[in-house]
Formats: sequence, structure tokens, C-alpha cells
Amino acid sequence: MGDGSDGFDVVVLGAGSGGYACALRAAQLGLSVALVEKGKLGGTCLHVGCIPTKALLHAAEIADAARDSEQFGVNATLEGIDMGGVHKYKDGVVSRLYAGLTGLIKGRGITVVEGEGRLVGPRTVAVNGAEHTGRAVVLATGSYSRSLPGLDVDGSRVLTSEHALTLDHVPASAVVLGGGVIGCEFASVWRSFGAEVTIVEALPRLVPLEDEAVSTALQRAFRKRGITTHVGTPFESVEPTDDGVRVTVQGGTTLDAEVLLVAVGRGATTSDLGYEEQGIAMERGFVLTDERLRTNLDGVYAVGDIVPGLQLAHRGFAQGIFVAEELAGLSPAPLDETGVPRVTYCEPEVASVGLTEAVAKERFGEQDIVSLTYDLAGNGRSQILRTQGFVKLVRRKDGPVLGVHIVGARAGELIGEAQMIYNWEAHPEDVAPYVHAHPTQNEALGEAHLALAGKPLHAHS
Ligand code: FAD
Repeated sequence: MGDGSDGFDVVVLGAGSGGYACALRAAQLGLSVALVEKGKLGGTCLHVGCIPTKALLHAAEIADAARDSEQFGVNATLEGIDMGGVHKYKDGVVSRLYAGLTGLIKGRGITVVEGEGRLVGPRTVAVNGAEHTGRAVVLATGSYSRSLPGLDVDGSRVLTSEHALTLDHVPASAVVLGGGVIGCEFASVWRSFGAEVTIVEALPRLVPLEDEAVSTALQRAFRKRGITTHVGTPFESVEPTDDGVRVTVQGGTTLDAEVLLVAVGRGATTSDLGYEEQGIAMERGFVLTDERLRTNLDGVYAVGDIVPGLQLAHRGFAQGIFVAEELAGLSPAPLDETGVPRVTYCEPEVASVGLTEAVAKERFGEQDIVSLTYDLAGNGRSQILRTQGFVKLVRRKDGPVLGVHIVGARAGELIGEAQMIYNWEAHPEDVAPYVHAHPTQNEALGEAHLALAGKPLHAHS
């Protein structure tokens, strides 16, 4: 293996979730690594994605707890939201993690190259005039907030998630364009902070990649929270008004608000980086790979959001680790994307792994699929938390659990067990004997499996 003086074993372009995970694992396996980053180590997830949004959502939960305290016999009042204080808390979380990650990368002996990199040869990345060559190159340049034709983001009235994360006040009202994960999370935060929120989604339902029952439950829960949703409603135009924006949707309905958040998906950061010149195969800006994450160029791999599929940090981590292990000759098993857990951290939370009921039926035939929905009303902890929702299981008749779909408080914390069940191809009968602590939200997962195995406890047959 090279020692870095005459070229590296691996040159990683981009130090977000995918890139830095690859670098850390490769270094751990004794490979020499150059990690090229033009911004901050940690990328989108740490600085403008997962971590800061979840800090905002936690602050939102505290606001809801204060507002609803009377229900629990506690006398507290929500006097207001100090966005300066919220940002201080959020930025504190980010900077502690950033310091930790920087130390970790340094401690593993990774060469961090600061600056904008460009692929100038099949295995060479140029940064500020210097060239860094690797036995392998891993492309991990991540993603950016997309907009729609004719929709100009100005950063003050028309925002992307990056702008929304640093807004210095709570908008009185907001239209959120896009009812996917990011749109639902910001809608949830702003509503908890006291804004009037309307979601506009072109597809027929919120979180459209989730099981249909989940979308229905979320939409109902949002309605109860006072979040208005217009689904099956394509956006048409936006124009400035004296105090915000006027959004026109298909059919001519107009919606006035202080801000418009554009959350219509994320494009791959791949243009003008030398990828096309080097002949990397791409589609709609995404880098195409095989299941071993190899691009069409020998020795060039791609990980994270630039690879078509779920744009999630933990998928990026897993892909980065996979490529590092592949380069070290460990022949890891390819990642099953369906087994990657998905969480939307709004209130109530949504979490899932595996197939939706509709996809399972498509794949195996309607006759071969059984589903069961365990209502959280039967779960003690959910009653205590005053949360509503369900655990829905999809299984193959007399076969393994193919999908787990959860709505309710702390659903994101339950999906860890669910992903083991899915990925280990467990049957409900395998899971049913395992004892779940009482009273926990987790117990709902156990009860759902008991019910599907034909021995329901706190559920009607
Ligand atoms: P990125 O994290 O985008 O990193 C790419 C890096 O490459 C960046 O640091 C960039 O500066 C660098 N780079 C780009 N071009 C160059 C160049 N030419 N030279 C040098 N460096 C370059 N995922 C979850 O799993 N859970 C969540 O809760 C979650 N919440 C999210 C909330 C929001 C608002 C957003 C926007 C995203 C969220 N995500 C979440 C998605 C997650 O952030 C991404 O999936 C993840 O960051 C992708 O990692 P990546 O390594 O592919 O790219």
C-alpha cells in the first residue's frame, strides 16, 4: 500500500457522511487516504442537514411540551420562542460534533486537503493547482437543494432549507413546497413555534415514499395540529407581496405567507467537477454505479447522495464503509437499500424499513401478503406520552416480515429493532417470544409481532 508520498491508496472527493466514513474506515484498515473538502468536514448532514434540523425539532418539542403542560397538571406557559437562543443551542450541538469529527479524522492520520477538487484524470484530483493521485478515487460530492423552473430562491422570502435553518425569527406564516421528509420536518418545527403553516405537495399524499397508511395518519395528525395540507396540488408560480409572497397553485388558488420554503428534493453536486470530461456515466446529474459502487471508470467509486437512491446520511456512511472495505480486499456484502431505515422526525414521527404493503403486493402477489396494524392506543407508554399512531407490519404469508411502518412519538428510536427484524428476515413467530420492557414505545413493536404471530395480548385479535 502507498504511504502517501508517491500517491495515496484512496483519494476521497468530498467529506460529507459518505466521504468521511470511507476515509475513516480506509485509514482504519491501513490504507493511506487523502480527503478533499472545500467546505467543512461533515458536509450537509452535520452542518445544514440532519443534526441542525433535529436540534430545531427538539426545541419544537420543548415548545409543545410547555404549551401543552396543563394537560399533565403542570403549570407552565410558553412565553415565546427566542430564535437567538434556539440557534445558540443548535450551533452548540453542531460545533461539538464538528470538533469531535475533526479530531477523529486527524487522529486516524488522514491527509485533509482543503479546497475545491476537480477530477482531472481517471484517478487524479486537482486542488488549488496540486494534483493528488490515488490507487482509487471515491466521488462523494453530495447534493444541493433543488428548485423548480421559474422559482427563484432569494434567501429572504423564498428559502431553501439552508436559509430556513438560520432564519433569525419565526415567520408568522409559511408555505412549504414539498411534503417529503424535509418539508414535513420544517412544517412541524414552524408550527410548534407558532407559525401558520401550509404544505403544498404535487403528489397525492405527504411522505409519498412511505406506506399509504402512514401518509394518511400523518396528514390527519398535521390537520389536528393546525397544519394545512394541499396534496395533489402542483405549484404554479410565486410573486412578492408587501409582506411576503403569494403562491399560486394549479387551479388558480392563491396562498399568502411571509415565506415560501422550497423543499422539492435534492440534486446531485456533480456538474463542472470534471466527471463528464473523464467519461463518468451519469443520469440526470447522478453518478451511476453497480451494486459494488463502482462507476464505469476503473478504480473510481461513488458514494452518498450523488448515487441514485435514498439520500440519507446513514446510507452514505454504509456506502463509504463498503467501498473502504472493498478497497482493502475484504469483499463486503453489498448493501440492501430496502433494509436502510427511513425516519421523518416531525411530530408525530414516521419511521419505516423494508417494503410498503403496496410494493410487497406488487412483488409477491396480493394473495401472498398479510399485514397487521397495531394501534398505539393499546400501548401504555403512548397513552402516557399522549401520542397516537400505529405499528404496521407487512409479512409474506408464512414467511418473513417484509416491512415495518411506524407513526407516533419516538418512532425513530423504534426502527433500530425493526431493521434487525427485516434484515435478518425474521418471521413474526421468531420475534414474538422476545420480551419487551413495559411500559415502552418499543413494546408496541413486540405486541404487533405477537398479534401477527396469532397471539395478541393488548390487541383485538
Ligand atoms: P454531503 O453531506 O452533501 O457532503 C458532500 C461534501 O462534498 C460537502 O462537504 C461538500 O462541501 C463537498 N464537496 C462538494 N464538491 C466538492 C469539491 N468540488 N471539492 C471539495 N469538496 C466538495 N439524512 C439522514 O439520514 N437523516 C436526517 O435526519 C437528515 N436530515 C436532513 C435534513 C436536511 C435539511 C437535509 C438537507 C438533508 C438531510 N439528510 C438527512 C440527508 C443527509 O444530509 C445526506 O444524505 C448526507 O449528508 C449525504 O452525504 P454525502 O456525503 O453524500 O454528501
